[in-house]
Amino acid sequence: MKVIVVGAGVVGTMHAWHAVERGHEVVHIEREAEARGASLRNFGQIWVSGRAGGEELDTALRARELWEGIGARVPGLGFRAIGSLTPVRNELELAVAEAAVARPDAAARGYKLLTADEARAVNPALRGTFEAALWCERDAAVEPRLAQLALREALLATGKYTFLPNREVRDVVGENAVRDDRGELHSGDAVVLCTGAWLSGLVREVAGEIPVRRVRLQMMQTEPLGEALTTSVADADSFRYYPAYASEALDSLQAAQPQDPTAAAHKMQLLMVQRLDGGLTIGDTHEYEHPFAFDTLEDPYEHLTRVVESFLGRPLPKIRRRWAGVYAQCVDTSRVVHRQRVRDGVWLVTGPGGRGMTCSPAIAEKTADELGW
Ligand SMILES: Cc1cc2nc3c(=O)[nH]c(=O)nc-3n(C[C@H](O)[C@H](O)[C@H](O)COP(=O)(O)OP(=O)(O)OC[C@H]3O[C@@H](n4cnc5c(N)ncnc54)[C@H](O)[C@@H]3O)c2cc1C
Repeated sequence: MKVIVVGAGVVGTMHAWHAVERGHEVVHIEREAEARGASLRNFGQIWVSGRAGGEELDTALRARELWEGIGARVPGLGFRAIGSLTPVRNELELAVAEAAVARPDAAARGYKLLTADEARAVNPALRGTFEAALWCERDAAVEPRLAQLALREALLATGKYTFLPNREVRDVVGENAVRDDRGELHSGDAVVLCTGAWLSGLVREVAGEIPVRRVRLQMMQTEPLGEALTTSVADADSFRYYPAYASEALDSLQAAQPQDPTAAAHKMQLLMVQRLDGGLTIGDTHEYEHPFAFDTLEDPYEHLTRVVESFLGRPLPKIRRRWAGVYAQCVDTSRVVHRQRVRDGVWLVTGPGGRGMTCSPAIAEKTADELGW
């Protein structure tokens, strides 16, 4: 069987991976010289902690297992089972962490409530002020700038995989074929469109308006910290965004402790992970209204710097990079992904939202199972 995959972000690459694993031939078509979308711009967090119980958590846990296995075979993608800590600073935040630890699925996530000293034993770089921390053992990380390249190298070594960059797919032709902007036709037994947040053009033509929206985020990365940040770190604002933390305790937190005005204005939380070079990737903001800003704003970065410095108890190293990224998210955010058969033999897979890096191996596995690859 021959599978045509369009889009070389993590969703497309994981579809290529599963197809090749099952013995099929893959032709992978990408518009850019290298993918430059959300899959490169993210934290690389394989993030289990805040997932909604049920399908979303099951998908994230399965994906975490797949990432670990693939990471063992492809060390260049930088899989690390580092877990995460969410420090809490007062009784209101602590109550949300306690409610999380009391969830029936807490053990599956590896949740544990740590004292500040226990948290510092796990992550000695956290020398700032906080009362306790929520530990999530299942959280992990990969290197987003390297992962697709490392996976592609492994795919090329199988001899079953062809990568065709600098070709924009413009048209779906009949069943199981696409035409690129050089006029070349690529036909196979199945076509999977993994075109990320590009919802106009090809996607609008083949699928019309789909229940998926675009979300823009601001990010930054520092010079090396000069010491290990042994876990990912989130702040208690993340409780306000992730469904796993919905509880009476969260309602009380929301009512009694308004978010910092900058954080509220830009729908922010702190997420932070150390890169293999020692730098810290730090974010994020959420922008939903169009047209999106074309430039990055300084206020959110200043807020994030204050929060990080308060946890680390030291100044942040110089910021080396700032960027923004856009992901596609199902409007019904309880849906893990938008998977649609747009023609016989042609599937569109998009809209995994802020969990696409985490869930893509399991999303692609499900597509492969459903299509009988
Ligand atoms: C700032 C940021 C931080 C994030 N952090 C995390 C995180 O830590 N953990 C997590 O789980 N998720 C995270 N996400 C979400 C995650 O990155 C995305 O859900 C995921 O990368 C989506 O992958 P994708 O392959 O669908 O899209 P993309 O990576 O955008 O790839 C789509 C590709 O398709 C190509 N393409 C589009 N149209 C065509 C065409 N017609 N022909 C050929 N090629 C085409 C594009 O050029 C692009 O390379 C984050 C997202 C952002 C923006």
